[in-house]
Amino acid sequence: MAEQKENLQMEKIVSLCKRRGFIFQSSEIYGGINGFWDYGPLGAELKRNVKELWWHTMTRQRDDVAGLEATIIMSPQIWKASGHVDTFADLMRECPLTKKRVRADQVEPQSGIVYSYTGANSTLTDNEIVNFRADLKNVLANLQGDDNVKTLAMAAEDLLYGPLNVGKIRSYLQEWQDKWVGSPSLIKYLEEFAGKHEGHYSSDSFAVLIPTGKPPESAQKIAQEFYRQQRVRNPELLGEEKKKVDNSIDFHPESGVGLTEARPFNLMFKTYVGPVESEDNVAYLRPETAQAIFAQFKNVLETSRQKVPFGIGQIGKAFRNEVTPRNYTFRSREFEQMELEFFIKPDEAVEAIHGSVATVPETGHPGEPQPNWGWQAWHQYWVEERVRFYEGIGLARETLGFHRQTAEELAHYARACVDILFKFPFSKKDEQGNVAGDELEGIAARSDFDLSQHQRFSGKPMGVFDDELRAAWAKLPKEKQDDLWRRFYENRKKYLTKMARPDETPEQIQKQATEDANGLAKGQYIPHVIEPSAGVDRLILALIANAYSEATTTDAKGKSETIFTMKFHPRVAPIKVGVLPLLKNKPDLVKKAIEVRDLLRPWMNVYYDDGGSIGKRYARQDEAGTPFCVTIDFDTLGEKPELLDTVTIRYRDDGRQERLKISELRDFLLSKIR
Ligand code: ATP
Repeated sequence: MAEQKENLQMEKIVSLCKRRGFIFQSSEIYGGINGFWDYGPLGAELKRNVKELWWHTMTRQRDDVAGLEATIIMSPQIWKASGHVDTFADLMRECPLTKKRVRADQVEPQSGIVYSYTGANSTLTDNEIVNFRADLKNVLANLQGDDNVKTLAMAAEDLLYGPLNVGKIRSYLQEWQDKWVGSPSLIKYLEEFAGKHEGHYSSDSFAVLIPTGKPPESAQKIAQEFYRQQRVRNPELLGEEKKKVDNSIDFHPESGVGLTEARPFNLMFKTYVGPVESEDNVAYLRPETAQAIFAQFKNVLETSRQKVPFGIGQIGKAFRNEVTPRNYTFRSREFEQMELEFFIKPDEAVEAIHGSVATVPETGHPGEPQPNWGWQAWHQYWVEERVRFYEGIGLARETLGFHRQTAEELAHYARACVDILFKFPFSKKDEQGNVAGDELEGIAARSDFDLSQHQRFSGKPMGVFDDELRAAWAKLPKEKQDDLWRRFYENRKKYLTKMARPDETPEQIQKQATEDANGLAKGQYIPHVIEPSAGVDRLILALIANAYSEATTTDAKGKSETIFTMKFHPRVAPIKVGVLPLLKNKPDLVKKAIEVRDLLRPWMNVYYDDGGSIGKRYARQDEAGTPFCVTIDFDTLGEKPELLDTVTIRYRDDGRQERLKISELRDFLLSKIR
């Protein structure tokens, strides 16, 4: 029941999004395209606001972050280095009948009766047998020849009785063919028939789950369809067995057919650069924006006059050929990401400079960045900064969830990863009824893996020179130097061993790790990175789900009406203010209202509306999520002289109204929406 209610909630949200122009299905007039979504007038504004806020918070308002805007298609070498070509895959299982795939970890458990078969034989249909026999009788009746031919023809009469299949005709042909020299019409007929009705035998096993109580014929029908696809004619099912199963994850949720073993399926969209579609020209649509940041790390470092620790932020499209796009825009095939790569010193460098690395609790904001922060403090800092960002646009902490990846879940190079979740209406409940939520953003501590990979693949140095480190190192006692050197060496050796090419020997790896550790002693290292990576579309969906509210009112006549309000935070609301003249047919009111609109327009998205009753116009703005409406009435024109040049401002969430001077309006609204 609870699930039904949640689906209903999503249905309502989807319908409102379409009705009010937040989100449309891409290519809808052609029936849509799965996993692609368009943003309508209100959605486009909402999305723009969210991206602007991210950009503003993450780059412009900080001294230590610079921006980047890179291309979607990049050298395919980037995706080799990042591991996406070889490992960016989901484990998939396929329905052998419909060829539909499901992610191996997302198969819904099912119960029922499983019918399984060991294979199938080709058979003839009853009609085909009747027609065959009538024709054969004709052929035999017209057969002419000596006694020998007659004997053989009598043998062929055996085909007129008992069970018949192509195999039986073939064995007759094999036995008598050479002897029937004088009766070509019979041979020709049998050969032609066998050739035309030949089928295949299949020894592929097949299983299908049907709900308890459904007749076995429905399973047999599905199995026959499967074997027909294997070119088995009119399949006769072999070795049927049936078994009851509970909560099995081995059957396709739609067809009920037993799934294949899990196989990896690469999620990158492929294309070709240039006119020749050859392997040499293959390129990929980027599956994440992050890699461009790593590839341009040196250019940004050199041109922005930044020093580690510093970050590079980017917003842009990403593409993943998701096998099962679902939950509206949550899992799309084309989406946008807002990613920051924040480069930090390795802990050994921090320790060399500051004597020790600051320890921070695993939760809570660690405060303003400090020079002695290691990766743990930076990671915790970014988790909390990101939560503050979400709170600042209206997602209260209790609507969020957190998932700290376990050692098994972490990528081999990652030190930690915390996912920030949002409790969507479709998010699953655990046995106690608690909702953890689904991922909005992941904040990963990725060590020096990414830049190291690009250094190895491009042959271009990705390290930095740190004067402070070099100076500090020289002053360290020998034991401290040895200790730090050894720890750094071990980390580099671990990475180099894990990512070694087949032709690299342990000696070469040790030599490289030694060089890297010697480099540290001279003030050189490859920066480590903390990566807060958020999805724009998921955030838009979270904001919409969070804002959605409905209330049903019943008037004196007993007529009830449901009113929808999108309670967006003013910072993200697509329209900031509705400007409404009380009456459309009073030129003075309209003139003043247009003056107010034009006063506000350079500063915010204003919607001028003079159509319909004032109540209807408020309701329209409530549905669009407009936090404020200003009404220009006769008092604005000075009917009550003390109210001249004032307007009524109405607040969306509680319907409260107050009077404000037009001259104060802009600053008042700006204070609310910024
Ligand atoms: P998931 O486990 O849900 O597939 P992920 O861990 O693969 O996500 P990342 O590679 O960390 O996701 O991408 C960073 C962010 O990009 C995610 O937190 C999410 O907000 C967004 N994102 C990833 N895949 C999609 C998608 N298919 N549709 C919409 N947003 C996505």
